[in-house]
Amino acid sequence: RRGWRRVVRVLEEVEDGCATTVGRLRQVVDAMAVEMHAGLASEGGSKLKMLLTYVHNLPTGNERGTYYALDLGGTNFRVLRIHLEGQRSAVIQHDLDRQPIPQNLMTSTSEELFDFIATSLKEFVEKEESLSETSQVKRRELGFTFSFPVKQTSSSSGNLIKWTKGFYVEDMVGRDVSECLQQAISRKGLDMRVAVLINDTVGTLALGHYHDEDTVAAVVFGTGTNACYLERTDAIIKCQGLLTTSGSTVVNMEWGNFWSSHLPRTSYDIDLDSDSPNPNDQGFEKMISGMYLGDIVRRVILQMSQESDVFGPVSSKLHVPFILRTPLMAAMHEDDSPNLKEVARILEDTLEISNVPRHIRKLVVKICDVVTHRAARLAAAGIVGILKKIGRDGSSGIRSMKTKSVSQNKMRRTVVAVEGSLYTNYTMFREYMNEAIGEILGDEIAPYVIIKVTEDGSGIGAAILAASHSSSS
Ligand code: ADP
Repeated sequence: RRGWRRVVRVLEEVEDGCATTVGRLRQVVDAMAVEMHAGLASEGGSKLKMLLTYVHNLPTGNERGTYYALDLGGTNFRVLRIHLEGQRSAVIQHDLDRQPIPQNLMTSTSEELFDFIATSLKEFVEKEESLSETSQVKRRELGFTFSFPVKQTSSSSGNLIKWTKGFYVEDMVGRDVSECLQQAISRKGLDMRVAVLINDTVGTLALGHYHDEDTVAAVVFGTGTNACYLERTDAIIKCQGLLTTSGSTVVNMEWGNFWSSHLPRTSYDIDLDSDSPNPNDQGFEKMISGMYLGDIVRRVILQMSQESDVFGPVSSKLHVPFILRTPLMAAMHEDDSPNLKEVARILEDTLEISNVPRHIRKLVVKICDVVTHRAARLAAAGIVGILKKIGRDGSSGIRSMKTKSVSQNKMRRTVVAVEGSLYTNYTMFREYMNEAIGEILGDEIAPYVIIKVTEDGSGIGAAILAASHSSSS
């Protein structure tokens, strides 16, 4: 087949375009910290929104009682009931109920949507309480995880900025999300109070902190990506006068929208962005998250196919946006069979490209590797950027200190809670990210920074926050 050399050149260009040397990553770290400052200084001061969550206190592990959580963040919603017995005893009982939101309700009215949710909630409560031996205590309290952009007005209320992910309930935009739910709950005659309104990153941080009080930030790598962290209130210039007993508060960065000229960008990224429904938006997310990685790979294969014969005639499937999902990309990347059977199967089944010789299959694996390597390393730089902003990257003390003993006194154990299927299910992404954090921080500091996976923060974390914010505690 002709064009091998051209294909190699395309690959080399992609590799160059995606290069993330440690020097480059450090520039991204600095840019992240700078943008965080700017977003905290004034409303609209940065592409990072740096939204206040009004969650000033994270769970301690001493919470007690039975609480509910409702998680609405995509096509499913879930209801949980959790029993806490203090001493981080964890969660004795946690019952899940996952339900799809009927398609027609995703674009109906807020009353219809929330009546549907409240009805399921009521049925769940009645079922659980009839089965449960623990007697119902006081009033029922609910943690509501709503993973759409919200401008919070308190820890339990906030107005929807805009819908994403296929939802479009027009009359909800600008309205108080909790109030809509609370009214529907009342209409159904259920005695329950919305105690907190959060997003999935805040739930992850809460769950992380519940188990380990050194947890100061949380990041989600799933379909999208976002992060939140604990900030000192006096650093939030745009909200002067915000006083909290803890002296700190959780900030929702909406970091998917981060942008910096230091981000290594290729023509494939530029095309992906301009073909998207939200051009110039969510630039960081488009290089990192599960929704997009597979599509970057598709675009590179398409380019190679157009420039050569190595994939046979150009398959029409290569023109279909998002046809190559990230889990398939991961499966190709991690194919360890000697003949790369899995790569051949996916090329054939998904892209309708057959009889691909082994050295071309290896090339496809390499493309997946380059794209994920960049994504994971940029994610790492983002995390270190947060650490830098809050003085936990060692740069404010340790590097200028001469002796090790001083540095050890200065540096504190720092935990970052991480969740999302891209991180938990894609081994190469996970390994590259952790490796890069080590590289950026260096051997002296890296041991103090721990990346810890939590499970189900958007559900369990919300219930625990409901407990720590409950009116009865
Ligand atoms: P959410 O949709 O709420 O973000 P998840 O955290 O489960 O939920 O993330 C789902 C996304 O993770 C999928 O859209 C997909 O892009 C990515 N993903 C899921 N499984 C894998 C996998 N095995 N390898 C790579 N990415 C995956």
